[in-house]
Amino acid sequence: MRQVLNWQCSHCGLHFTTWSKRERKFCSISCRSNSRKISQNEAWGKVSEKFWDRVDVRLPDDCWLWTGSKSHGYGNMRVGYETVRAHRIAWELHNREKLGDRMACHKCDVPLCCNPGHIYAGDILTNSRDMDDRGRRTGAALKGESSSGAILKEEDVRDIRHSTQLPEELEARYGISARQIKNIIKRRAWRHLV
Ligand SMILES: [Zn+2]
Ligand SMILES: [Zn+2]
Repeated sequence: MRQVLNWQCSHCGLHFTTWSKRERKFCSISCRSNSRKISQNEAWGKVSEKFWDRVDVRLPDDCWLWTGSKSHGYGNMRVGYETVRAHRIAWELHNREKLGDRMACHKCDVPLCCNPGHIYAGDILTNSRDMDDRGRRTGAALKGESSSGAILKEEDVRDIRHSTQLPEELEARYGISARQIKNIIKRRAWRHLV
């Protein structure tokens, strides 16, 4: 005899039964997708709270400067396991959408500005303004390892060597690969620097 299983929908609370032996958390497809939407919104909400806490929000047309941690002239914030440029987060929060391969570019040319009205999503090929973002997303890959010196400053190299974070965690912050970071730590790169 087949066993009837009794579940409760974790979205709407409805009790329902199935013949299936597989665990069912939701009574229906729509409950499943609604519940997913809510958890996405909660995730945006958490990022949003932490983010706007660190922005000096002014009048709508003003530049809203990032007050949190910075590197290479840009703001950055940790989101989950990633360190993300602050102005990227500003765009993503405002549009409730991930930028993915696109870049966040400034209309105002103020790297620390997080006013969503000053930031647009740009294409790597057409944009020439956010040079640092370009270097991070394409330049490093194109120029190869020898270019690691070009985007790093001596103080960055010292910070990397003294950091307690893993190379994988540092790569987003400095815009170079984990392998390049390991080379720096093991002094295969930047040897001249103590
Ligand atoms: Zn339900
Ligand atoms: Zn601005």
